Amino acid sequence: MTARILDGKSIAMTIRDEVKGEVAALLALEGVQPCLAAILVGEDPGSQVYVRNKEIACEKAGMKSLLTRLPASTSQAELIELISRLNSDASVHGILVQLPLPEQIDTRVVLDAVSPHKDVDAFAPENVGLISQGRPRFLPCTPHGIMQILGRTGIDTIGKHCVIVGRSDIVGKPMAMMLAQKSGPLGKSNANATVTIVHSSTPDIAALTRQADILIVAIGKPRFITADMVRPGAVVIDVGINREGKGIVGDVDFEGVCEVASAITPVPGGVGPLTIAMLLANTLNSAKQ
Ligand code: NDP
Repeated sequence: MTARILDGKSIAMTIRDEVKGEVAALLALEGVQPCLAAILVGEDPGSQVYVRNKEIACEKAGMKSLLTRLPASTSQAELIELISRLNSDASVHGILVQLPLPEQIDTRVVLDAVSPHKDVDAFAPENVGLISQGRPRFLPCTPHGIMQILGRTGIDTIGKHCVIVGRSDIVGKPMAMMLAQKSGPLGKSNANATVTIVHSSTPDIAALTRQADILIVAIGKPRFITADMVRPGAVVIDVGINREGKGIVGDVDFEGVCEVASAITPVPGGVGPLTIAMLLANTLNSAKQ
């Protein structure tokens, strides 16, 4: 078997075009231009690239992008002061604090300072609570992007056993919550899964991954999931981004798993492009509200 490649890049482009159309309509009808304010502290090269890509994506969608660059020596109080100003600026609809932050800053405290109404990453406890109750204000960008990949390629999750490897607050945990809801972003068949979460204290990971109809991997370990860990015919979603030489590889051994799975996301060009697309969608939704 050779797996179908789930082309995240083209799905992301479709969503970005949809967002662009809605942004233009909002501006024409209400005079509101969605605005995403990004904060970059320090010189981390990866963060610089991520923030630049988000800026370009905003501009292409017709949104305003406001980038504040702060030196690595910035204090927590200074950063929180900036966030407070952005919280009360009615022309700003989304606030994004690029991670990681320098050591002297407590990331939790800073993220908690972002207004839940502008928390387009959906990190705030209030927003996490709303997701768990099935009435989300914002959906976290990467898990939401995965739901879009599944829904838009005709892969129903209803009644499926989804095994998620990794339990981070950004990917694994919200992914599990969303899949287990009664209704997902694209309806009932885009939710209603039976979910297993696997992490570093799970004794026999392969025994569980082999039971997955849909296997979602987000651990940050290159090629961790090999063909023998995948049930024949399973759908495999690879969230991992691991730098190797000049390129990136996922958490899944792509070549080997392609021979076993029925469908798989590549790295790059799979989940990654959706993350930015869903950030734009969240900023648009915030502006509409
Ligand atoms: P974290 O480091 O926050 O979490 C990693 C999770 O994986 C933890 O729950 C950890 O378990 C688990 N884990 C680590 N090693 C193992 C192992 N050997 N067996 C089982 N579980 C393990 O990572 P993130 O969720 O933030 O990111 C994961 C990957 O996804 C990274 O490569 C990251 O770059 C990528 N990523 C990609 C995005 C995209 O847009 N495509 C967006 C966000 C992340 P424990 O909790 O027990 O420590």
